[in-house]
Amino acid sequence: MITKITKPKVAFFDFACCEGCQLAAIDLEPEQLLDLLNLIDIVEFREAISEKSDSYDIAIVEGSITRDSDIPRLKKIRETAKVLITLGACSTIVGINALKNFQPPQQYRREVYPDDPNKYETTLARAVHEIVAVDVFIPGCPIDTGEFLRVIKNLVLDKKPDIPTYPVCVECKRNENICVYEKGIQCLGPVIRAGCNARCPSNGGYCYGCRGMIPQANLKSQQDIMQKYDLNFAQMREKFKLFLERDKEVFPDDK
Ligand code: SF4
Ligand code: SF4
Ligand code: SF4
Repeated sequence: MITKITKPKVAFFDFACCEGCQLAAIDLEPEQLLDLLNLIDIVEFREAISEKSDSYDIAIVEGSITRDSDIPRLKKIRETAKVLITLGACSTIVGINALKNFQPPQQYRREVYPDDPNKYETTLARAVHEIVAVDVFIPGCPIDTGEFLRVIKNLVLDKKPDIPTYPVCVECKRNENICVYEKGIQCLGPVIRAGCNARCPSNGGYCYGCRGMIPQANLKSQQDIMQKYDLNFAQMREKFKLFLERDKEVFPDDK
């Protein structure tokens, strides 16, 4: 249940990330930005204003939790906000920060700070929902700005934000693309959440999973597609690793 808020006060917060999703949020077209500012009062947004506030209705949280000392700050944000939104893959599904989770701590510590591996506090990377309750997830690396705007409008209108639960393939077919599997290229579109208008396969690439998996993703079917095209399943798992660290155990075998 999401609380209706009229002209809400909105605060942006960042944890471990590149801040690209916040940049995307302020990189709206001028009329979209005006539209947004008519709907909300931004009271804290480090990338755009110097003001700070301890009072806000909606907290928009970007980035993964990679230090135990981040946890009290995140909990305070949760206690203050009526609605908490994750912004982008890092906060929603751990995102590229999850890559460190595949190495023992001493290894990534040494690789980044070889002269003093214990200089900085760091732990496994976690998504925000692993620490506090999240009301709305905005996926993507980076986010889709149209989707961001829609989520905010929906909240102000007391509507449940509509984040697709169908796969990227639906949008890809709608765009009349030739499936990259026909060219022998792997693509995660069958199991990844739509909402980006199949951005990558529609522009000469393939889906590498930045929006995370759909609910009840048919992984067996994805595996069958791989086998049908005689593609390497182990390589596919490597691609999942980039954005789907939390799902690394889901595949029944590793052929
Ligand atoms: S999701 Fe991607 S673009 Fe957004 S903050 Fe994380 S790394 Fe940057
Ligand atoms: S290119 Fe990828 S997203 Fe498009 S139809 Fe093929 S598998 Fe699906
Ligand atoms: S096609 Fe896949 S990788 Fe590309 S933006 Fe969409 S979800 Fe992300």
